[in-house]
Amino acid sequence: MVSTELHFFYFYKGGGIMVVQIVYHCNNEILEWKWSSDSELMPQPFWTSIFLIDGLLIDAGAPGGVDDLRKFIKTLDSENVIDKCVITHNHEDHCGGGRMLQEEFNIPVFASKLAIPLLMKEKNYPDYRQMTWGVDYQPFQAELLKDSISSKSGKYIFDIIDTPGHAPELISLIERKQQWAFINDVVMPKYRMIFGKYTDIPEDISLIFQSIKKLYDFTKGMDNLLLFTTGKGVFKGRSFLKDRMDEINSLHLKAHRFQNEAKQKGLLDKQLLRYVLKKIFKRENFVGTLTRGGLSHKNLIESLLEWPIDY
Ligand SMILES: [Zn+2]
Repeated sequence: MVSTELHFFYFYKGGGIMVVQIVYHCNNEILEWKWSSDSELMPQPFWTSIFLIDGLLIDAGAPGGVDDLRKFIKTLDSENVIDKCVITHNHEDHCGGGRMLQEEFNIPVFASKLAIPLLMKEKNYPDYRQMTWGVDYQPFQAELLKDSISSKSGKYIFDIIDTPGHAPELISLIERKQQWAFINDVVMPKYRMIFGKYTDIPEDISLIFQSIKKLYDFTKGMDNLLLFTTGKGVFKGRSFLKDRMDEINSLHLKAHRFQNEAKQKGLLDKQLLRYVLKKIFKRENFVGTLTRGGLSHKNLIESLLEWPIDY
């Protein structure tokens, strides 16, 4: 992980305890605004990040963070006035403040072609996500994002790359000159983890793999690449992407190998799945239990098994 400068940290009570952190990266060129609701019912706080770079905002936080985001925007001096916002995908922890930005600050909000109709719909997400990210999502109409977008002064230009897998409409933003990649939820720091499926987060591990590979190929020659994730830190170097590809490949092979083993033992369906899960992860993750399988190891195993092996 790249060391960053943490400027201040505060928390206060609203419906629960909300935590806001502001982190500066790259000589203060990038401001990361992190928000989390530290609910007692959740085993750990989950963070969502918004990045502000020369007037360009990447993402708009969670519905529960809208009041905090508004307060933050009001503290910005004239140099830092937000000029536009790009939403990376339709998940509630990334698009919650879109309508507020449009209506209260007249900030144009952009999204991909696939994201626009989704952002206009009411959201109905499970209770554990309501607890984490808040409710009352305000639908809004975003403007269509082109192949690239520039920051306010024009000094940074971001290429927009389609990177589905975690969500079909998910995009990444890459600033080639600076070698910055805003990959948000495209890549998780470790794939031994929970995975969405039977909710409105139908993740697909083969698509995630392809998107990581796409980012890896796109960033060829960028020796000082920095990768910014949502709430999980900043990582240095393309090797971060390569390591994730290797990790997924290894899980993919293991899942199929244990599936064959299970079949030889005469196991089918649920029993087969349980066998593979036990071999790879020993047991289901606590979040898997808490979310009643919504986000679980089991989903990842299923997605790995649905992805055929090409020999
Ligand atoms: Zn997401």
